[in-house]
Amino acid sequence: MVIEMTSGATDAQINAVIARIQELGFSFQLNQGEVKTVIAVLGENTGAVETGTFEVLDGVEQVVRIQKPFKLASLGFKPERTIVEIGDVKIGGKELVIMAGPCSVESQEQVMACAEVVKKAGGQFLRGGAYKPRTSPFAFQGLEEEGLKILANAREKTGLLVVTEVVSPEHADLVSSYADILQIGARNMQNYPLLKAVAKTHSPVLLKRGLASTVEEWLCAADYILSENGDSPNVILCHRGITTFDKSTRYSYDDGVIPVLRHLTHLPIISDPSHPAGNFHYVPAYAKSAVAMGTDGLIIEIHPDPKTAKSDGAQSLTFSDFERLMADLQILSQCPAISRGN
Ligand code: PEP
Ligand code: MN
Repeated sequence: MVIEMTSGATDAQINAVIARIQELGFSFQLNQGEVKTVIAVLGENTGAVETGTFEVLDGVEQVVRIQKPFKLASLGFKPERTIVEIGDVKIGGKELVIMAGPCSVESQEQVMACAEVVKKAGGQFLRGGAYKPRTSPFAFQGLEEEGLKILANAREKTGLLVVTEVVSPEHADLVSSYADILQIGARNMQNYPLLKAVAKTHSPVLLKRGLASTVEEWLCAADYILSENGDSPNVILCHRGITTFDKSTRYSYDDGVIPVLRHLTHLPIISDPSHPAGNFHYVPAYAKSAVAMGTDGLIIEIHPDPKTAKSDGAQSLTFSDFERLMADLQILSQCPAISRGN
């Protein structure tokens, strides 16, 4: 249930509504938009409360039931698009945001080489996994804190921002002390203790879609984070392909979800063309397709020598392929037929 206040509602009227919500045993979340304030009523049995309970209060314009299981991520709660601002980079604004780097952090040299290419090509974020959630326990698990230091060093040298994955709740504070965005990997989308732990850091979170999760489950996962930091929402959704019967690519590319998300949520969207492709040949076309669909940005795997990569080499772009793609994206993202940031 959300309560929309009139555009001139006073603080006293807003506080009276909040007091009534609490009296009834519910919690709340405020969205103080430019035009009006919207208050979400949160709790297990909000369906049992008559809308009239709030409609009679001063300053209330209307009370709307949100039928979807996700609330804070919904457009009903927050009709204006969220822009996650980190430094002078705006994710969800007019400019296409590019995040790129290796799948795994392997060495300072490897990361610096990637960072320089990303910077030169006009990217804003360096990506790299220091903690790797590998399907097999025998595969490379990452350099852990040493990897975080390598990323932070590259940030210092290039001015790029850093996005890197957190795989367990006890690392959330440590990773957030090094990174600008915490990535939640596909395998952890429904790891609720992890979602709560990253939310508590108040760092921006890149929430990947689960391998076989519905959009509804994904947005409910976003609500876990938003319920901790909803008054300055800083969740970015990342689609990265889903598991289907078709094995011609590593995952099936779900870029068709972009306009669906636009219809359901105010959160910004980043597209990952690398993991669904599983093969570098498909990555540029997947990336361009997401831009045409209206994505807010891309996260792309690159490597100085993909053949020797410790993880995901087959889908990693060489530097020259990445530079070529960036030049194409530059042209494509200027196309007036593509809408972004509105
Ligand atoms: C990654 O970004 O390298 C990664 C492990 O991605 P995903 O969680 O989407 O598989
Ligand atoms: Mn990877």
